[in-house]
Amino acid sequence: MKTQVYVVNGANPDFSLLAKAAEVLRGGGLVAFPTETVYGLGANGLNSGAVAKIFVAKGRPSDNPLILHIADASEVDKLVRQVPVCARALMDRFWPGPLTVVLERTPAVPDGVTGGLNTVAIRQPDSVVARDLIRLAGIPLAAPSANSSGRPSPTTAQAVLADLEGKIDVVVDAGPCDIGVESTVVDCTTSVPVVLRPGGITLEMLSAILGDNIKVDSALRGDNVTPRSPGMKYKHYAPLAPMMLYEGETGVAQEMLVDAVRLALSTKRVGAVVSTETAGLLPEGVAVADYGSRQRPEEVAANLYKALRKFDNEPVDVIYAEGIVESGLGLAVMNRLRKAAGYRIVKCGREG
Ligand code: AMP
Ligand code: MG
Repeated sequence: MKTQVYVVNGANPDFSLLAKAAEVLRGGGLVAFPTETVYGLGANGLNSGAVAKIFVAKGRPSDNPLILHIADASEVDKLVRQVPVCARALMDRFWPGPLTVVLERTPAVPDGVTGGLNTVAIRQPDSVVARDLIRLAGIPLAAPSANSSGRPSPTTAQAVLADLEGKIDVVVDAGPCDIGVESTVVDCTTSVPVVLRPGGITLEMLSAILGDNIKVDSALRGDNVTPRSPGMKYKHYAPLAPMMLYEGETGVAQEMLVDAVRLALSTKRVGAVVSTETAGLLPEGVAVADYGSRQRPEEVAANLYKALRKFDNEPVDVIYAEGIVESGLGLAVMNRLRKAAGYRIVKCGREG
């Protein structure tokens, strides 16, 4: 199949192109499209056959459920049995936006979307292109990130094509995504809602609405328990070369520098995914992917996946990544970096 690229303006998209993409979706095809978080790979979320194509194109395990994307909050009513008070409060405050709620589903949602679970994940994206496309298609769109399974999510149409060219019908290109990491997934089926995946809506923002009535899933704190969200158990976000993550409250840049210099002196090609602050300290011979200032987690989030993909075209033997502080969007950034590193972590700043 030849993948068509429809280039549109993100703020004021060409409706004739979006209408063509919507027609492809209604016909059961696959269309990658930008959201404010990352590019999604869309299919008709009410059609099992269309949804099955997503899993094939991505090589995604069939038990990893998909998020349904809707244009208007009222569409939730057909898809879920009830909206608990907490969920309603979160949706009122953060929709449209990078928040996904998990609720009990109705039979309208095909098994293929939920991996057979009796719950469904739903989000109303803020991106104008995404919402216009969903509205024109007239159906909820199942849309996981538009990457091959296990790889860093795409924040540009070029990154979508690098993974999925020839496997999908269309990619709508509206330039880079604003936020750069995926939505926050909150399970609202329990009396205390649980964050299953940190993302664009920070824990601080959730707490401002729910107070103490919000928990973070223990799997995210590294405890050894069965994951409650199927997506938690898979290798994810990984660059092609093996990656090592340096993290800790102090000494991160220094410890990484020592190791990078040592390796660069050998015949190994070293890549570094680091802050602008650290980039300036690295020796010549170390290939650098600069993710922005570590003082600004939103800048790091916006640049993260591009930085992780940089060494796909500039091969290195090993990648060193610098961790940042886990406040605000830093929590989502560190969650992605730890997974991308396959949990190969160097704890810095420890005595002895
Ligand atoms: P992605 O589509 O790549 O952004 O991933 C979607 C995320 O939402 C994955 O981590 C899924 O496991 C999670 N998810 C989707 N549906 C559910 C559900 N019903 N219950 C729990 N987690 C879900
Ligand atoms: Mg994904």
